[in-house]
Amino acid sequence: MVMIPRIKHMISRKNISKNALKVLYRLNKAGYEAYLVGGGVRDLLLGQKPKDFDITTNATPEQMIKLFRNCRLVGRRFILAHIIFNAEIIEVATFRRDNLIKEYKEHYKNFKFNKNGMLLSDNTFGKIEDDAHRRDITINSLYYSMTDFSVRDYVGGLRDLQKGIIRLIGDPETRYREDPVRMLRVTRFAAKLNMSIAPETAEPIPRLALLLHNIPPSRLFEESLKLFHTGYGYLTYCKLCEYQLFQLLFPTLAENFTKKGDSITERMLVQLLKNTDNRIQNQMRVNPVFLFAAMFWYPQLNAAELVVQKHSNSLTYYDAFSIAINSTLEEACRVLTIPKKITSLIKDIWKLQLYMSRIYGKRAKKLLLNPKFRVAYNLLMLRATVENSPELRKLSSNWHQHKISSIKKNSIHTKISNNLISL
Ligand code: ATP
Ligand code: MG
Repeated sequence: MVMIPRIKHMISRKNISKNALKVLYRLNKAGYEAYLVGGGVRDLLLGQKPKDFDITTNATPEQMIKLFRNCRLVGRRFILAHIIFNAEIIEVATFRRDNLIKEYKEHYKNFKFNKNGMLLSDNTFGKIEDDAHRRDITINSLYYSMTDFSVRDYVGGLRDLQKGIIRLIGDPETRYREDPVRMLRVTRFAAKLNMSIAPETAEPIPRLALLLHNIPPSRLFEESLKLFHTGYGYLTYCKLCEYQLFQLLFPTLAENFTKKGDSITERMLVQLLKNTDNRIQNQMRVNPVFLFAAMFWYPQLNAAELVVQKHSNSLTYYDAFSIAINSTLEEACRVLTIPKKITSLIKDIWKLQLYMSRIYGKRAKKLLLNPKFRVAYNLLMLRATVENSPELRKLSSNWHQHKISSIKKNSIHTKISNNLISL
């Protein structure tokens, strides 16, 4: 183990969340070991602002329930304690033993809970050294102690942090097989931190990419938001393509890819992800409905075209388009499941694209009041950019004008102006 004393690293308590500090102090005071770990320590050492602060301790979940009144136990794969403060939840995990996913699952089956959901018995917890080895990559396995303010490194994370290397802990193939989501995490961190992936960590990825199909589709959906909605979506997308992971997650989109990378689907992805990164950089909100509606817009148009042809032009375009929506979304959900409440909004946003082709009339007026107008308008603008289409540009600028003049004219302007915010 390498221990870096307080004077030799740049972590300062003033950059750590007050609530995380409270939890660490309380655990230490009660006689438990407790450390800040994961992205919090990694980002502080890199001089960046951490997204959240994770804590690990030798206190068991039962002991934490006794220690913190604001504690709730959560998690299906692993039991974690959430210490709930007003605007922040601090996640606290008990030290886990190395490579125990299988054992954990077995163990989880036999968990005994009381009627409040409290865990009554547990025995798979380990020591800090075990915990360090079961984490994913070396730079995510650094521990900051509040007792002496040192940083502890059991797996060579500090060296990799200095050199800018993403390295899986342990034998990469074994670790990917245990949890294939680690392949996604490796590419995500390489993109986010602008680091290179160690050759032995990178090598198995294209070979094992298929294992992602064994992951519950709902977990893959959650992971996909981390890939594209955390500010480095475009670079992450490039890395995912390089390692054949994007093709696995989104086979329908990849079917449209060309060797040159210039298909409309690829151009949409690039523009969409660059715009999303920009919004996040400017602290603007992002929306999974918009993300998936835009990603699958061109496959939806292709599907609608197929329906038109199949029915030898006997259907209206609107009907063909509506029929195609179900098959497009079914395809989109082949590997990862987009929750129903999101797909139903995607349907609306897509149909609004058709309605938006006409700017005047009763329907158009009503559309300005539609709460989904903003998202639909953003998709229209994005299409205009991707297709470099003067018609679509004109249409979106007309809608913008139309909206502004309705605000001026309309007495119910508050509702409309709410809708215009962040156009
Ligand atoms: P960020 O929160 O900035 O995205 P993070 O490293 O904190 O990055 P989390 O998903 O918050 O990532 O996870 C916290 C820590 O838990 C990680 O740093 C890592 O040590 C460990 N971890 C998370 N997922 C896995 C996994 N699939 N396998 C092994 N360890 C994991
Ligand atoms: Mg984190």
